[in-house]
Amino acid sequence: MQRPEPQEFARVLSSMCTEPHPAARAAAERYLATNPGDPGTYGAVADLEREAVEMLGAVTRLDDPTGYVTSGGTEANIQAIRIARNRKRDVVDRPNVVVPDHAHFSFTKAADLLSVDIRRAPLDEDYRADPEAMTALVDGDTVGVVAVAGSTEYGRVDPVPALADLAHDSDALLHVDAAWGGFALPFTDHAWDFADAPVDTMTIDPHKLGQAAVPAGGLLARAPALFDTLAVDTPYLESTSQVTLTGTRSGAGVASAVAAMEALWPDGYRAEYERAQDLAEWFADELRDRGYDVVDPTLPLVAVDVPTDTVEALREAGWRLSKTGAGEARVVVMPHVTRGMLRAVLADLDRLG
Ligand SMILES: *Cc1c(COP(=O)(O)O)cnc(C)c1O
Repeated sequence: MQRPEPQEFARVLSSMCTEPHPAARAAAERYLATNPGDPGTYGAVADLEREAVEMLGAVTRLDDPTGYVTSGGTEANIQAIRIARNRKRDVVDRPNVVVPDHAHFSFTKAADLLSVDIRRAPLDEDYRADPEAMTALVDGDTVGVVAVAGSTEYGRVDPVPALADLAHDSDALLHVDAAWGGFALPFTDHAWDFADAPVDTMTIDPHKLGQAAVPAGGLLARAPALFDTLAVDTPYLESTSQVTLTGTRSGAGVASAVAAMEALWPDGYRAEYERAQDLAEWFADELRDRGYDVVDPTLPLVAVDVPTDTVEALREAGWRLSKTGAGEARVVVMPHVTRGMLRAVLADLDRLG
């Protein structure tokens, strides 16, 4: 039977994933039949995972990082909330986590799975977390506070140092979700990483701006002891305990993450960030010149208020475009997004809008 070809990236505008770097593609194939979940048997990929964590530490400025390569940002966020909850298991009955309203829907899954309440605080007028609004929701049962560094809808970066203070004043953990933004932020002047603030845990996904193959997410912790709260015994493996959520895991993801980071950190990621940010700002200007309302791209992500009918017409024309909760079209300027593509979508917009 003839199988369909996978989609091409030529009209993909809203995805946070992209074509893997060629070295990442080759490494994924080479390590396809490995399982970092069983390090006693698959030693080579287990070594590679340690390298991946070291490199993620370099990107996020954390010396001696602890962590692992997850299936994605969702698993990393679930595990971070699990760490925060388990750490206070003996002292808190009805744990809650305080998040800014733009926190990714994976936190809703985490809350449901872990029986933790999620308290969502309204954003400030620039779509960033508002520390005052979050303070109002923190109480003695708060086990964690979340900051987003590169929000899914508008690419905003929350005031991480202020939220770290808020968390620690209540003996809660501060988790930073940099799933998407983590490989762009080192080249900006935002305060977001482990060196900027006493961040406890962080999500950063190689399979988004890191240009690794899917699945390759990342969870890092400042203190190794934080992972102890997740350990379960593993009687039939050579290793004796496991902190990951899934058992068998993708060695392809691990190997591709290492290959991508070796190829691109830091100069390749810097060049890509600069290219994408210039392009996002140019695109935002072009849209404004046409009279559309645009949310300023602080990272390479443009949200634009285009009528629903027009977005539908663009989709019909083959553009892969999604909308924010408020109804703006989102264009994520990933490595596969070129000026030629954006010129073409502008031409279609002029024709259909
Ligand atoms: C994409 C994203 C996630 C979820 O990551 P998956 O890899 O899709 O599971 C979580 N948080 C943020 C900010 C994201 O952009």
